Amino acid sequence: MIDWTQLYPAFAKQLADFLELCTSKGLRIEGTEGYRSPQRQAELYDRHDGTTNARPGMSPHQWGCAVDFIFVNEDGTRTYDGDWTEFGSLAERAGLVWGGTFRSDDKDHVEFAHWRQVRAANWRPPQKDQS
Ligand SMILES: [Zn+2]
Repeated sequence: MIDWTQLYPAFAKQLADFLELCTSKGLRIEGTEGYRSPQRQAELYDRHDGTTNARPGMSPHQWGCAVDFIFVNEDGTRTYDGDWTEFGSLAERAGLVWGGTFRSDDKDHVEFAHWRQVRAANWRPPQKDQS
């Protein structure tokens, strides 16, 4: 599950609309990854395993402006074998940018259209209690 408190508020609002649309269309999905710290983005980038091609600072995940999803089966198991075309069209209807339109074809990824402005403003998610 993802931590909604670490997402940019205007993006989280569009996501809520998107999830509502998915529910109404019978699409069962769950977030797998949302906010990434600069450290985590750097680790993933250094792995070069296809998870990300974005250097630290260059991924909307690092600015709380992207979430990756997976489909949930009736029995609760997770699968990438779902209707990604429907997923993408609902994401776009909610005002999100769908990763399935990227050259890299990140079909499980949605992001906030204005994430570069969020980055320019150097927005940071609220500090989490370390206790
Ligand atoms: Zn992503």
